[in-house]
Amino acid sequence: MMATAVKSAGVCRNFIGGKWVESKPAKILERRNPADTDEIVARVPLSTREEMREAIAAAKAAFSAWRDTPAPVRGEVLFRAVRMMEEEKEELARLLTREEGKALKDSLGEVQRSINILEFMAGEARRLTGESFPSELPKNFCYTMKAPLGVVGAITPWNFPLCIPIWKVAPALVAGNTCVLKPAELTPLCAIRMAEIFEEAGLPGGVLNLVLGAGEEAGDELIQSKDVRAISFTGSTEVGCQIYANGARRMQKVQCEMGGKNAVVVLADADLALATESVLFGAFASTGQRCTATSRVVIEESVADEFVGRLVERAQNFKVGNGLDLGTEMGPCVDETQMNAVLKYIEIGKQEGKLMVGGHRLTAGDYDKGYYVAPTIFDHVGTQNRIAQEEIFGPVLSVIRVKNLDEAIEAANSVRYGLTSAIYTSDASSIFEFIDRIETGITHINSPTVGGEAHLPFGGMKDTGIGQREVGHVALDFYTELKTVYIDYTGRKRETSNY
Ligand code: NAD
Repeated sequence: MMATAVKSAGVCRNFIGGKWVESKPAKILERRNPADTDEIVARVPLSTREEMREAIAAAKAAFSAWRDTPAPVRGEVLFRAVRMMEEEKEELARLLTREEGKALKDSLGEVQRSINILEFMAGEARRLTGESFPSELPKNFCYTMKAPLGVVGAITPWNFPLCIPIWKVAPALVAGNTCVLKPAELTPLCAIRMAEIFEEAGLPGGVLNLVLGAGEEAGDELIQSKDVRAISFTGSTEVGCQIYANGARRMQKVQCEMGGKNAVVVLADADLALATESVLFGAFASTGQRCTATSRVVIEESVADEFVGRLVERAQNFKVGNGLDLGTEMGPCVDETQMNAVLKYIEIGKQEGKLMVGGHRLTAGDYDKGYYVAPTIFDHVGTQNRIAQEEIFGPVLSVIRVKNLDEAIEAANSVRYGLTSAIYTSDASSIFEFIDRIETGITHINSPTVGGEAHLPFGGMKDTGIGQREVGHVALDFYTELKTVYIDYTGRKRETSNY
């Protein structure tokens, strides 16, 4: 059942100290369905700094009781949330598509992944272990334990509006922290529904707080607060850089997952049919608005003409439309600003490479109600061209032709980012060379650059990621402080010079 705060076109409320409270902002953002701008999906308050301070204070007040709640009991709340999400999978996916625009099958995938992550993390509550060690001294028990940090802040982007909040909030809560979430302005509804689910699952008031608003105000207040011990950020490299610098000045724990410019290498011995499908899925599903999207394909010259021919033929038939319509493979850009940014890169691409397909906004028929861009492919792109270097975050694919595996790896590594990559080949040596030398945090062999499992670490190298990895059991390292404990049970002064 969709509860109170997710009312179509109502003014959304903040969740502070266990209550849904009206914001009194200077400005309300009208959020429209990107596939049909006649529909207002939400009115989003751009909350004030004072409202963010109230949320941080509520999280601070709730901390000691939540820290002292046994971890398996904390996990039970998450398990109840899992069951609730299972029951409303379809509804959640439709909500996601309406506010973000991605095709329903991609939204369903995101909901399922969110459930998987939540379930995995709920189980981790029973495995929040440390290590025990033999002591150098007799009758001395030594061990480590994971202690929560206190109040942690989560700042999230619009492109995975359910999954990314879940993959931050779930480990934060399991570890015994209290949390303030500031989701992206463009996609408040999934975050609201997530907070409602936690509330209905029995999470005590103040343990999770949600403040809607702009990065420059509510977000900035969160990162500046002396009461916030850690910030987990996902978004652009530009903003992540500022947040990391701010955290360093203030000795605050920070993790940032940021931009990507992911490449698929296709060697001459690859299964070209398989590679074609995977490259197009990686490039155009979710409208290319994934940090893991395929934005470059690096192809061996000897098979390049054939491969580009296959790509173009399939791209022409890629079904673009309202994500809620059955059969849609690609929805619109998230908003007008994002669409214009993509169109700007397409104009740059026309100077830099050879336009093979797409290259324009779609406006015919129902398309004129949304922010649709045709799936676009450029061939003969140089590794240093802007469209091969800069994150576009839209349905634009650049083809880079190379002579061999060495050149392919060099091209793939030539960008500032390092999130994910893939290679298509049937040669074992090439696969292992690639795995050794590719500069990305995640790599796929004979499968697309996108996707990931709930129990495996997620994150990037270079300008993509800094701080500890998210997702999987390692996610808990960020949300905990390791304490080393020595228990002397002799009851006497030691005769030792060890110290
Ligand atoms: P963004 O950086 O504009 O915003 C992200 C979040 O930061 C939003 O909630 C925003 O309000 C907030 N914010 C902005 N300025 C802030 C400030 N000064 N202080 C505090 N908070 C601030 O990013 P976006 O446009 O929402 O998302 C797209 C970007 O996210 C892309 O670059 C994409 O690659 C990246 N992304 C990365 C990953 C990953 O895991 N590497 C995953 C998803 C998205």
